Amino acid sequence: MPKKHAVSAELAERSVQISARGVARLQARHPWVYRTDVAQSNVGAHDVPPGSLVRVLDQRGKFLGTALYSSSSQIAIRMISHGSVADLPALVAERIRAAIAYRRELVWNTDAYRIVFSEADLLPGLIVDRYNDVLCLQVLTQAVDAVPVREAVLQTLKEELQPAGIVERVDARIRELEQLPPLPSRLLCGEKSSTVFTMNSTMNSGVRFHYDGLEGQKTGAFLDQRENYAAAAQYAHGEALDAFCYQGGFALHLAEKCSSVMGVDSSRPALEMAEKNATLNGREMEWIEANAFDLLRDYADAGRRYDTVVLDPPAFAKSKSNLETALRGYKELNLRALKMLRPGGILVSCCCSYHVSPAQYLNVLRISAQDVHRNLRIVENRGQAKDHPTLLNVPETEYLKCIVAYVSN
Ligand code: SAH
Repeated sequence: MPKKHAVSAELAERSVQISARGVARLQARHPWVYRTDVAQSNVGAHDVPPGSLVRVLDQRGKFLGTALYSSSSQIAIRMISHGSVADLPALVAERIRAAIAYRRELVWNTDAYRIVFSEADLLPGLIVDRYNDVLCLQVLTQAVDAVPVREAVLQTLKEELQPAGIVERVDARIRELEQLPPLPSRLLCGEKSSTVFTMNSTMNSGVRFHYDGLEGQKTGAFLDQRENYAAAAQYAHGEALDAFCYQGGFALHLAEKCSSVMGVDSSRPALEMAEKNATLNGREMEWIEANAFDLLRDYADAGRRYDTVVLDPPAFAKSKSNLETALRGYKELNLRALKMLRPGGILVSCCCSYHVSPAQYLNVLRISAQDVHRNLRIVENRGQAKDHPTLLNVPETEYLKCIVAYVSN
């Protein structure tokens, strides 16, 4: 059973001693220390309340900073400051304001973007997305689930952004892993949980999407692809195929440039939303419910040809252990897509597995092109949008690859 939650998260009363390996990670400015690097003796990490603020010490007792403690995650410690923290909710509010300021500087032409991206915004365990006038919150750790922290998050978001509604999306599996009591996805404040948002408003009037914070689908939109949609649309032409299209993110952006666009996904609810989005933008498009692997194989074998193909599958490598299988899956998809692309065609090939490095993914493309005797020119080698920043010393914050390539014989 989960222990009682740390009621007051303001003061770090407990200390946790970490091993030399843990110290080395912190010195490299990585915020995580694994449970295996937390000393069991001396301070007795077992007695530290779940989600509490802790003082982090090295083996000699030297103070290294302040962290958020999880009693259940393998990542026992997430650093929040290299100094002392007198008031955690105040620090959280300050970090949220800084995250908002960063977006004000660097994110434009959209009313949908990520406002807080966990570690990348020095707020481990908190994700906040904005969809026009509705905000969507995700709580990933015991520390962020604590009442004073939640209150600070809501208060700051309301003050800074005056949303019409704030919803919380709950991933039941994450709460279970963090030994937190189950919660439903729900409206936390305001009245509004659904809205319409507009991306890439430089492209004519922009592309519009429905958002429903409380309906079926697990996530909202894939906001991390926002800048890649616009990049893909720059080069897209002719007949286009968007494989793994979800609610039509790429497909709707391509529609402006292409003579026809077909979207493929295995999820019917996603395609129903894609069709609603098409109507919202005054587009007629074809959506096919299918396993994209089978469809790409059948179409390639049947000699179908396209001028633009987008591949944006879910993460195949969930951990290092299935990397080889994942790479085979990515190769299979790219191989089929390349077979179908006419000379002069554009391949937009994405990979959101953190465990596949950018170099490994380029290699997948290289060997796929080699197998089908095509030449590939890399037009753009891209990553996630700037509202999903990569923190240089935290490799885990860099995960998305999006390669735009020009195909010739
Ligand atoms: N391109 C989308 C995001 C894709 S997310 C966007 O930019 O919004 C991955 C999608 O792959 C999900 O919609 C999921 O339903 C779909 N999917 C997963 N496995 C699939 C399969 N074997 N065949 C087709 N679609 C699949």
